[in-house]
Amino acid sequence: MVVGGERVWTSACACGGGCVPLFFFDHTFPTPPHPKPVDPDAGADAVVAAHAAGINFFDTSPFYGATKSETVLGGGLRRLRRDDYVLATKVGRYGADEFDFSRARVAASVVDSMRRLGVDRLDVVHCHDVEFAADLGAVVTEALPVLADLKRQGVVRAVGVTGYPLPTLQRVLDAAPAGSVDVVLSYCHGCLADRSLAPVAKKWAAAGLGVINASPLSMGLLTARGPPDWHPAPPHLKAACARAAAAAAAAGVDISALALRDSLALDGVASHLVGCGSTAIVAANVDAALAALRPPSEAEAAAAAAVEGVLAPVRGTTWPSGLPQNA
Ligand code: NAD
Repeated sequence: MVVGGERVWTSACACGGGCVPLFFFDHTFPTPPHPKPVDPDAGADAVVAAHAAGINFFDTSPFYGATKSETVLGGGLRRLRRDDYVLATKVGRYGADEFDFSRARVAASVVDSMRRLGVDRLDVVHCHDVEFAADLGAVVTEALPVLADLKRQGVVRAVGVTGYPLPTLQRVLDAAPAGSVDVVLSYCHGCLADRSLAPVAKKWAAAGLGVINASPLSMGLLTARGPPDWHPAPPHLKAACARAAAAAAAAGVDISALALRDSLALDGVASHLVGCGSTAIVAANVDAALAALRPPSEAEAAAAAAVEGVLAPVRGTTWPSGLPQNA
């Protein structure tokens, strides 16, 4: 991925702290908050274990776990050399319904995040879930200029935007001054159930942007366990994904490994941010990412064909996200 004008090697498979793997919350969106008993040491150990397994890119946000994700991630990162990992956090989203992309809040947010993470510089700072901004213009006229200043000071290496609706991300990119956005993070659009990121990622990458594909398991839709209760997908998509998981299992293959293989094949994507609820899941996903370098086995090919039959009719189904005026 190109970060701040330099080529930076991020592992294809990276760790997100939203779901918190390692770091406390069951998933990206704590709505309603459902903190688990916090064991910062176990969280820090898991960060170090993920790094030892080859993951060098960590993503978090002050929103995740109401800042706990950053604190526990920081506990692990303090045990690593700063030059040995790439670290992304976010500004602008602080609660399920709390958004603030103003200059003052963005500047303070970066300082607070660095303190929690125990670092004096950040590789990527994203404007988080821009489709919820009450004034989308403020992302461009307030948040991005503050982040550009921090980039000039060497505190931030690259600036990004994140969100679910691809057209809204494009609107921000179109409105942003040239060079003010380096990275775009899209989620749930680069997966077995929705490949709409594919052409967009190619276009963005060709324009020099670093493209991050988050939620390759579509926030749990593409897992044997299924999605959490709050998952916003319509019922028919949830039902199809459950059938797909069963079809994969019948062929002796885990739907998550199949889904990761599918996402990793996307052109133009620098890194895939997979949620890792435990060190065991980190290990499973590293194994799946390595297996994806080899041609599929007979069982995997059979599972892929069965899953294709189930998901093709619903592929690309989306759900609403954000304020109507930002669509
Ligand atoms: P995901 O879709 O890959 O994972 C979803 C769920 O599946 C998680 O609960 C995870 O524990 C579980 N899982 C992962 N691998 C598994 C496996 N092999 N077997 C069984 N279950 C498995 O990703 P996600 O959690 O939705 O997102 C990953 C990260 O991406 C987040 O933590 C966050 O850092 C980032 N993200 C950012 C945004 C944003 O900026 N708007 C949105 C979504 C995600």
